[in-house]
Amino acid sequence: MLEGVSEPWAQKCRDMRKYLEEHTYTCMVEAMIAAEHGFSNPAQHKLDAEAFLASEGAYEAPEVPESFASTRENIAQAEVSTEEIIENGKKWMGEEVMLAFKKYKEGKSQFKDVVHYGLDELQHQCFSMLSYDHTFHHFNFTVKMEKSGGDSSSTPFFAEVKEIHGRKYYSCYELSSYDDGHCYACKNQGMHALKHPICLMGYDSGHADMESPFLYLSDDE
Ligand SMILES: [Zn+2]
Repeated sequence: MLEGVSEPWAQKCRDMRKYLEEHTYTCMVEAMIAAEHGFSNPAQHKLDAEAFLASEGAYEAPEVPESFASTRENIAQAEVSTEEIIENGKKWMGEEVMLAFKKYKEGKSQFKDVVHYGLDELQHQCFSMLSYDHTFHHFNFTVKMEKSGGDSSSTPFFAEVKEIHGRKYYSCYELSSYDDGHCYACKNQGMHALKHPICLMGYDSGHADMESPFLYLSDDE
């Protein structure tokens, strides 16, 4: 059975890899538009994705490919500035990483004195697509925390938001100065500055050639 599906997938993955070698996705929407339209026109995919994200609530339903057809019709009329697009991107990515952090923070004694926290800086992000229904997005960000004693600090974190069969999984790790974990997915896209945890548990890192659908080890969900 695997024999039967491997050949079309291998071709599709070769197409994706070729596309990824030349183009870094800004976001999942862009990748999905590219996948939907045969990886043929990256410049247009980027524009479509930007306009799509700029439209209100667009990020709510990226898992429904059918929606792109009607959205693309609206895109032609959408006039949005680059600043707005960047701001929108920062906003939803900020929300994603803080969701990951919130989950990480739950029940950990090291955070029990924290009275206030918030996103300090979104430093790096890199989106990867392993197959149509398996994508993941890696982030480096810092969280500003204030403790009841008045201490405040900014702490670096790594987060992964992956989406498999339309379901999202969040993971988050506090980064130490020695963290320098390997990730083919980010490296292949030229995102060398993004730091990964040194221990390879729990996050997708792709593999050297990204030729076939990637099998991942279940995280701690
Ligand atoms: Zn990565």
